[in-house]
Amino acid sequence: MEWDTPHYRASLSFLERAAHALDLDPNVHMRLQRPERALIVNVPVRMDDGSVRNFTGYRVHHNDTRGPAKGGIRYHMDVDFGEVASLAMLMTFKCAVVGLPLGGAKGGIRVDPRTMSRNELQRLTRRYTTEIVNFIGPQTDIPAPDMGTDEQTMSWIMDTYSAIKGYAVPGVVTGKPVSVGGSLGRAEATGRGVAYTIMEAAKVMPDFEIGEGTTVTIQGFGNVGGVAAKKLSKLGCKVLAVTDVTGGVHNPKGLDIKALMAYAKEHRGIKGFPEADAITNEELMALKTDIFVPAALGGVIGSKEAQNLKCKILAEGANGPCTPDGDKVLRERDDIFVLPDVLANAGGVTVSYFEWVQDISAFFWTAKEINSRLHTVMKKAFEEVWKLKQTLKCDMRTAAMACGVKRVSDAMKARGLFP
Ligand code: NAD
Repeated sequence: MEWDTPHYRASLSFLERAAHALDLDPNVHMRLQRPERALIVNVPVRMDDGSVRNFTGYRVHHNDTRGPAKGGIRYHMDVDFGEVASLAMLMTFKCAVVGLPLGGAKGGIRVDPRTMSRNELQRLTRRYTTEIVNFIGPQTDIPAPDMGTDEQTMSWIMDTYSAIKGYAVPGVVTGKPVSVGGSLGRAEATGRGVAYTIMEAAKVMPDFEIGEGTTVTIQGFGNVGGVAAKKLSKLGCKVLAVTDVTGGVHNPKGLDIKALMAYAKEHRGIKGFPEADAITNEELMALKTDIFVPAALGGVIGSKEAQNLKCKILAEGANGPCTPDGDKVLRERDDIFVLPDVLANAGGVTVSYFEWVQDISAFFWTAKEINSRLHTVMKKAFEEVWKLKQTLKCDMRTAAMACGVKRVSDAMKARGLFP
């Protein structure tokens, strides 16, 4: 199949483990192994110098049994059909783990957004939206930000979709600015959710407490990594090292996160931050720390990296940071508490769901309501996965996947196979 790449096979292997643990109906398993539908589009863009360039865009629906498909749009040079389909599958199970009435989707364009001007990015986004306009919608598929996209990208998608329909449709995307129907707390939701699940893990771990002196390392300093750094340092943790696409910084005494954020904003990256030494991704992943949060690319923890990890908690802010080989090492080691992506970073889609609910009911909640509901959802999801782990006698990733797979399977069986 066209999407059958190593990336897609990684998600398939995690599904396989969950299916085995659950003794899943083979027909349901077979159907879940493939995305339901997918679009590949050419996105021609007039560049600022007058030339025209082609970009390739994707949008994939993995499964919409439980509700409209939901998932981010990624702008990155690694985007291909396999990666998008793989991430769409993870979205199906992530939405189910946190109990949302949504299915799984993902989209992306193979592009390095840092090489484009704002005007070029706007034209790219609007043309991509036009190409997928019949594939998305508040009742069918609701995109959101992911790597390389942000609330400005979502505004352009919402505006283009609304212009084509002839009326404002805020519910077509989430992660928008509050001024066009975005939700309070959405920008911080994923990082906040990562911190909540770490707090829940600490409760069930013997001899582990979060507070003064708890050490943290983070890969990626964007929406997820930056907010996770902020939240964890607010809890008293010491962030020892951070990397981003420009480089890495390390200070054994702890980084000043506020100063680092201001620096990153001004310099479009953290490289050269004065109060720290340089560090590579490889060194970062081998650093002794209590908590490691991968919050950038997928596939960064293979077997070698997994062997070298010296953390007590691995909280997966990124989607798919562990390869199946890396995951195997972690299961064999059994000395690292793994908070898998479908659980740890589900705070983003949870508040995206709240945003969609607010948009379609045209009634908005307070920040307090949103954060308190998010906390309730994340705590419940952690407890359910933790309980299932004991019942199935398996690792946390398999338990989290099994929790999601079981809910999707129940829904598929209740609906039956048409015709
Ligand atoms: P972002 O674009 O805001 O930030 C990505 C960060 O990763 C940037 O700091 C970038 O410099 C860094 N990065 C890129 N390549 C790197 C490399 N080779 N080494 C180190 N750092 C590198 O993206 P984001 O929204 O924070 O997403 C990060 C991850 O979290 C992705 O895997 C995404 O799928 C996942 N995620 C995001 C959300 C969300 O709500 N944004 C929700 C769930 C999961």
